[in-house]
Parts: sequence; structure tokens; C-alpha cells
Amino acid sequence: MKLVQPATLPQALEILAGERGVVPMAGATDLLVHWPTRIAEHDKRYLDLSGLAELRGVRWTDGELQLGALATYWDVIADRQAARELPLLVQAGRPVGAIQIQTGGKWAGNIVNASPAADGVPVLMAYDATVVLQSVRGREDVPLPEFYRGYKQLHMTDDQLVVAIRIPRRSYTVQQFHKVGSRRAQAIAKVGLALTRSTAGWRVVAASMAPTIRRCPALERLLETGAALREPEALLPAIASDTSPIDDIRSSAEYRRRVMARVLLSALRA
Ligand SMILES: Cc1cc2nc3c(=O)[nH]c(=O)nc-3n(C[C@H](O)[C@H](O)[C@H](O)COP(=O)(O)OP(=O)(O)OC[C@H]3O[C@@H](n4cnc5c(N)ncnc54)[C@H](O)[C@@H]3O)c2cc1C
Repeated sequence: MKLVQPATLPQALEILAGERGVVPMAGATDLLVHWPTRIAEHDKRYLDLSGLAELRGVRWTDGELQLGALATYWDVIADRQAARELPLLVQAGRPVGAIQIQTGGKWAGNIVNASPAADGVPVLMAYDATVVLQSVRGREDVPLPEFYRGYKQLHMTDDQLVVAIRIPRRSYTVQQFHKVGSRRAQAIAKVGLALTRSTAGWRVVAASMAPTIRRCPALERLLETGAALREPEALLPAIASDTSPIDDIRSSAEYRRRVMARVLLSALRA
């Protein structure tokens, strides 16, 4: 493996600006999964982010929680304020792999890996998180739903790094995260759902239901009007309009739609 190890963020950004095809590497829990079979990947150059102190940590300000791009699941699981205020981060982080993955894998890596079945992204999206990108050209803040343009297509250029994730602090009356898999942990979601209600309104975010993690505007409208509980039969058409699940090795599209409706309904009744 050809590894470049910058000591500071400016150095890392200079390397990305000066050389095409350098791949950022954080915890490598996604990057190295296919290493034995993807031989072509071995010739690439990897930008090891682990020495960049600027990207570490979990920081609370009056208005938001800031996760550095090297913040791990474990950093958040261990943060008492997160458990109190933004508990979905803890609930979603807990079943990610086992402790080795939770202490190595980063929230930012989960975002950039862009799996439609990711567990970190749905809760971040339900909290209206913003991705902070930086390059030698400057900084850009991108709302998480806008970061995804299609399957593994991102609003990010090769010279940009994710440097932080910003999550606004609000008061919530509903915060729920559900992951349906073949077992509770160490499983890829067949259906994932993050649900929040705050002063900013309802957020419904679906995982494993489309080529990207996706907010569900038709469902959010049903919740805003109260129609979802009055007319539960309206859920399936709204899910059909918001999502585009596929049949694959883990489930059928029909199963995913029906399970999402049931999970949502039971979450609302609870
Ligand atoms: C055994 C196992 C179990 C797992 N279980 C789950 C699970 O239950 N749920 C789940 O969602 N995921 C799971 N994962 C996947 C993985 O742990 C997460 O997606 C993790 O968050 C990725 O973070 P990382 O730091 O390891 O990223 P890396 O592997 O280092 O990178 C992932 C991608 O992000 C890019 N990248 C990383 N950081 C940056 C940055 N700062 N700026 C720009 N690009 C960047 C890399 O170039 C790469 O494309 C599992 C993985 C393993 C190996």
C-alpha cells in the first residue's frame, strides 16, 4: 500500500490539490473490506488522515454539535451529552459492527462511503446535519440530503475533504431509530428508519429503500397533517412515492415497503 501521511490539514489539502487519484483514508473499515479481491486498488495512493489532530473530537457549542471528520462512533457513544440530547446518534452507533469497528470507523467515512444501507447517515439526516467540505479553494457547507446525487455520487470533488459534520441543537418531541436486519448487530439493514420531530417539523429518513439514504417528503407531509395515524392506508402510497427499493440478496422491494410502513406506524403509535 502506498501511504501518504500528512501532519496537518493544510498539507493534506495541498496533496489532494496537487495530485489526482489520491484516496483519503480514515478508519479504513470500508476501504479495506474488499482489499483482497480488488487488486487494482493496491496501486492507488492513500492519504492517511489519522495524523490530522484538527479533525479529531466531538465539540458542543451553544447552537450545535460538531463532529470532527475523525470522530468515531465510540467518541459519540461515550459522550453523555449526546446520549441526552441526540440519542439517535448513540442508538445508531451501537449496532455498527462490534467495538473494534465502533472505535475505528468514523461518521464522516460512513457519509462518504455512501452505502444506501448505512446506519450513521439516516440519523444524521434526521437531525438536519451539514457536511463541511474543505479544499485549498475554501470551505463549503452542504446539507446532508444534498450531498447525495445518486448511487455513490456525491456533491464533493477529488480535492475536497470532509472536515466536520455540524448538527444543530434543537428540542425534540420525537426521536426514533429502527434498523430491521437479520439480527440486531453485525447486520446490514434490510430497512432503516430515522424519525424526528422538532421545532423544524418532522423528518422521516429511510435506509436501504433507495440508491441513497433518503428523506421522505410525502411521508413528512402525512405526519405534519396528522393523516398518517388517521389514515394508515395512506402510508404505502407515500412510501412508494418517496422510495425506490430493489429486490436483492437481503430482501424483496415489496417486503421493504411493507416493513417500512409497519415500522413507521408502530413508531407513531408508540
Ligand atoms: C465488520 C464491519 C461491520 C460493519 N458494520 C456496519 C454497520 O452495522 N452499519 C454501518 O453503517 N456500517 C458498518 N460498517 C461500515 C463502516 O464501519 C462504516 O461505514 C465506517 O463509518 C466508515 O468509516 P471509516 O473511517 O472506516 O472510513 P474509510 O474506510 O477510511 O473510508 C470510507 C470512504 O470514505 C472516504 N473518506 C473517509 N474519510 C474521509 C474524509 N474525511 N474526507 C473525504 N473522504 C473520506 C474514503 O476515501 C472512502 O471512500 C461495518 C464495517 C465492518 C468492517
